[in-house]
Amino acid sequence: MERDTRLEYARKLDQQDALNSYRDEFYLQPEVIYMDGNSLGLLSKRAEQSLLSALDAWKKYGIDGWTQGKDPWFYFSETLSEMCAPLVGAAKEEVIITGSTTTNLHQLIASFYHPEGARIKILADELNFPSDLYAISSQLVLHGYDPKEQMKLVKSRDGDTLSEADIIDAMTDDVALIVLPSVLYRSGQILNMKALTNAAHERNILIGFDLCHSIGSIPHCLDDWDVDFAFWCNYKHLNGGPGAVGGLYVNKKHFGQKPGLAGWFGSDKEKQFDLAIEMTPASNAGAYQIGTPSIFSAAPLYGSLQIFAEAGIHAIREKSLKLTDYMTLLVEEELSDYQFTITNPKEHERRGGHLFLVHEEAARICKALKEYKVIPDFRSPNGIRLAPVALYNSYEDVWRTVQILKKIMKEESYKKFENKRDVVA
Ligand SMILES: *Cc1c(COP(=O)(O)O)cnc(C)c1O
Repeated sequence: MERDTRLEYARKLDQQDALNSYRDEFYLQPEVIYMDGNSLGLLSKRAEQSLLSALDAWKKYGIDGWTQGKDPWFYFSETLSEMCAPLVGAAKEEVIITGSTTTNLHQLIASFYHPEGARIKILADELNFPSDLYAISSQLVLHGYDPKEQMKLVKSRDGDTLSEADIIDAMTDDVALIVLPSVLYRSGQILNMKALTNAAHERNILIGFDLCHSIGSIPHCLDDWDVDFAFWCNYKHLNGGPGAVGGLYVNKKHFGQKPGLAGWFGSDKEKQFDLAIEMTPASNAGAYQIGTPSIFSAAPLYGSLQIFAEAGIHAIREKSLKLTDYMTLLVEEELSDYQFTITNPKEHERRGGHLFLVHEEAARICKALKEYKVIPDFRSPNGIRLAPVALYNSYEDVWRTVQILKKIMKEESYKKFENKRDVVA
């Protein structure tokens, strides 16, 4: 990529972009530059269609929608799981679209955390999304342990990133289970899942990853890396809609392990309607479902995942890296007078789909950006996340975003806002 800051260059990159046509498949608002697809992905026309067809099936079939129509609801989670599996590098039986990130983590800890003897601790990190840490703590409490003693948190040296060596050092023989993010939600750092999994297994520790910020943004090879389990939400890069049903992965070597939190939708599908007093769990990842799936919160994924299958996750990753490279160079060239620090890793293999700009005035800079119709994401206390998304953002979007930031800084128009976060930020 050339260090060319002209608008013409952005337009040239857009013309050469093989994914450019997908932009037309999304609902983009006129004048608005959406840089928050890593918090809530935008609606695509295909996702809208698949939601409408689920509504239509309800309209036409009533109860028989469970077994009739184009995509019967009884098998819908499995249908989506098959579509999702290539994105995590797994067989379809190892994935199930169900629950939410946090409930799936509860399920996976309930199923795979077996403290024994001196091996009691759950290892996580202090930069992980708080919900994950709350879930881990409460699971420890359910087992009768004090989270202050048994939740071991790897510390960050710089407040933004984690060192894989530090994580591996923390894999001591009192650790029973490890839960880590694939991509850190603030700094966008990618952890080396393969190396961490190897290190965990050498020490006989099970390891799972939270893929919220990586699924749909970077390719995964969970089977090849031999990860034990993973879980994620589908409303960020996967554009499944607010509160979309989440997903989980269980390595096939663990099939047959009883679900810690059982419910009838985890049954073997042939047996589920025997309605027996004793449950026969599915022989695959389906066993970790609990109750009736939320069809309307899963339906948009059907259309969305088709787009991912068509565009290809490798092409998406390639463009995402180019967009974030381009944004980095523009920030360096155009904003050098304004005290921004880019704290996400620069190397491709360590960087996810967003940039993390740190600035003392971040909260009100974000408010000013919104006034100029750029949608960023503020992360307390001083971070601005900007996610140019491969499927619907253009190089011109990136160029305009940086120009608007420059204008805000130059004119100090952020100063008319309070430097405080809103309730949802
Ligand atoms: C978005 C996100 C969550 C959200 O969990 P929900 O159960 O979907 O509310 C959890 N963990 C991480 C790392 C996230 O980025």
